[in-house]
Amino acid sequence: MTDFRVDADWVLAADGPIADGSVVVTNGAISWVGLTECAPLAERTETVHGVLAPGLIDAHTHLGLSWARALGPIEGHPVYDLFWPLEQSLTPDLVDAFAAASAAEALLSGTTCVADHYFFAEASVAATTRVGIRSVVGETIVVTEAPHSGPDSMPNAVAVAERLGGLDLVHPVLAPHALDTVGDEVMREIIAEAERLDVPVHLHVAQSEREIATLMERSGVGPVERLHDLGLFERRVVAAHCMYASAEGLALLAAADTVAAIYCPTVHAHLGRTLRAAELRAAGGNVGLGTDAVPMQRRDLGAEVRAASALQAVLTEDADALPIAVAMEMATVVNAEALGLGGVTGAIEVGLRADLVAHRTDRAVAAPFADPAALVAMSGPDLVDRVWVDGRLVVADGELVRADQRAVVAAANTARAELFERAGR
Ligand SMILES: [Zn+2]
Repeated sequence: MTDFRVDADWVLAADGPIADGSVVVTNGAISWVGLTECAPLAERTETVHGVLAPGLIDAHTHLGLSWARALGPIEGHPVYDLFWPLEQSLTPDLVDAFAAASAAEALLSGTTCVADHYFFAEASVAATTRVGIRSVVGETIVVTEAPHSGPDSMPNAVAVAERLGGLDLVHPVLAPHALDTVGDEVMREIIAEAERLDVPVHLHVAQSEREIATLMERSGVGPVERLHDLGLFERRVVAAHCMYASAEGLALLAAADTVAAIYCPTVHAHLGRTLRAAELRAAGGNVGLGTDAVPMQRRDLGAEVRAASALQAVLTEDADALPIAVAMEMATVVNAEALGLGGVTGAIEVGLRADLVAHRTDRAVAAPFADPAALVAMSGPDLVDRVWVDGRLVVADGELVRADQRAVVAAANTARAELFERAGR
């Protein structure tokens, strides 16, 4: 790949904002960062009238769940009463269409990497590859209760992880649904396979009262305590939710260097139970940020950054519990580290891959502004102008470059009609 240089009004570099700054990209990696007046020449130069910032990293998604978008009022628990009954009728082609829409939405909102957890993961990878977003991806492993469950789920997911290893922009993981639906024996096998493959484990932890009740009945302790006893915390763990963790469970999370609890502010708020993210951070825990998926939500991690800060202030009755700047760190460098991508992405720094977002400043929502970092924390699809993933341009002038957004939307609509027909709804 040829070298190029991006000159911007502002560059949000790892060690601080640079006014009139430049980033040089060589073979998809950031090779130079500094003042434009000192920048080396490149074969091509792009100019950003705005702020060049690192792409956001979404640490917990279900891209293929975009079929549940904007369904209107739902009854019962979204996972047990809506998602599972319909997900039984999913096919790889349907997941591909839903995941493409969701991946496109993420890119257009300034997210350059998603950690995805769903059925038919290779179909999601086909979609993420087509639109050009980086993914940390695992096939959902589930042994009982949920759709597509059974004894083949674990070996199938391991085979998927082996096939995905080495693919461009794809970082495989093992993705058990949760301990209550997988069980101790299979969880032990997953831990051993994660060690053999040297990949993280991405799962749901303490996400519902039902899960807690099952674990208490089965083991006499909550899921965090049981996963710790099984040896999971010796691996790198992406632990979505944790909002029903006990005090003992939260203490174990706070003490575990290799484990990150993933806070999904909008989803938690809609479920009426929120991870005490600011307190877990203050106690020494790793806490990342994700969108997850509920019907009335956008796959826009910037919106979750602002929600995280606001909701933790209310929860703790402390306006400074989780400042916006800290929530932005969670959405970038903390999430990169949580996913095992600390040396790959998450910041504008020499040696990292060029996952970059140009935010425009010529819109009413961006005027006036004083602090470029604060402006980026207020950004979203209306300000995202250009996106590069691994040095490749994937969004230009607020539109997808490698896929046709209208075709992606049409395919998702057709797929939803087919899913509901298959499910007899
Ligand atoms: Zn989830």
